[in-house]
Amino acid sequence: MRPIQARISVGAMAHNLRVARSHAGTACVFAVVKANAYGHGLSRALRALAAADGFAVLTLEEAANLRLMGVEKPILLLEGIFGADEIATCAELDLWPVLHHAAHLDWLQQQPPARPLQVFLKFDSGMHRLGFPLADHAAVVARVRSLPGVAGITLMTHFAQADEAAGVDWQLQPFLREMAGHDLTWSSANSAALLRYPETLGAWVRPGIMLYGASPFAEVSAEQLGLRPAMTLQSEIISVQTLQPGEGVGYGQLFRAERAMRVGVVACGYADGYPRHALTSTPVLVNGCVSRTLGRVSMDMLCVDLSECANAGVGTPVVLWGEGLPVDAVAAAAGTSSYELLCALAARVPVEEV
Ligand code: PLP
Repeated sequence: MRPIQARISVGAMAHNLRVARSHAGTACVFAVVKANAYGHGLSRALRALAAADGFAVLTLEEAANLRLMGVEKPILLLEGIFGADEIATCAELDLWPVLHHAAHLDWLQQQPPARPLQVFLKFDSGMHRLGFPLADHAAVVARVRSLPGVAGITLMTHFAQADEAAGVDWQLQPFLREMAGHDLTWSSANSAALLRYPETLGAWVRPGIMLYGASPFAEVSAEQLGLRPAMTLQSEIISVQTLQPGEGVGYGQLFRAERAMRVGVVACGYADGYPRHALTSTPVLVNGCVSRTLGRVSMDMLCVDLSECANAGVGTPVVLWGEGLPVDAVAAAAGTSSYELLCALAARVPVEEV
């Protein structure tokens, strides 16, 4: 067997949900499990996060799978429906769509569901991606209230910079001001807002990334937030090379040795989900010894510096991210985010659940 493996910890996810809950006060918690639970496996995440009050997904297919797995709790469709034909399934499976565009209201009017739906009505408070303009709130809420296919409304918005210094105030205050007169429950918090801004809690919070043990903040580590890594991507050294001064390694020969050095070749490449744009100096853990990648990542392997890892040889374990090496540190060095790394874990990587 090729020695690469993703070890995924159900206990870590369950722990991280408890951390989320400890910040949520009386708010209910939607565990965001879209994109195959950020790469961790939907059914596995479901077992780990069974104590959540509901689950948030992207597609009808994910929602239907959750119902097939026996979920009876609320399921939120984060981007709503993608066509009028999905309304009947929402009613049949009791799914809660996010309504964020006039087309959704037209579809509900033209094809009312067999039984009225709980809906989340999304307003754009500044992200300018999805949602009705805040200025239109009176007319939009009135129209949705008048639809016979709607049983209940939760108001919703989403933050663009909850993880940055700009924070949430510039979106939250106008949102709450405009929504105040409607006497409806509301939802706004992703992981960053939940962890940092208790004023964003509302009725439902929607944490995702923190459940998987990564930090939404560049300057605060997951460990500092009390989170445990849920996914450890590990492999082994399958070959050792010795470079002489001036010799390069890998495609493009992007790294060249300044002195004689040992290089470990690790069975992990971009076809496993490791970022190809991680050039020299992305951290790796060689049998507990912190080292770095060298040169360009190949499809099936990457090279690491063994200068400080005297005992490393063929068969030595290498952690690419996870236990002992935060995925956030790898993402930062590779110029990407933990979200992208976790979601990109390739189907060919065998998973061991721990
Ligand atoms: N809410 C919405 C609407 C989202 O789109 C997402 C993720 O993209 C989340 C919540 C979860 O965000 P995070 O993973 O940053 O907690």
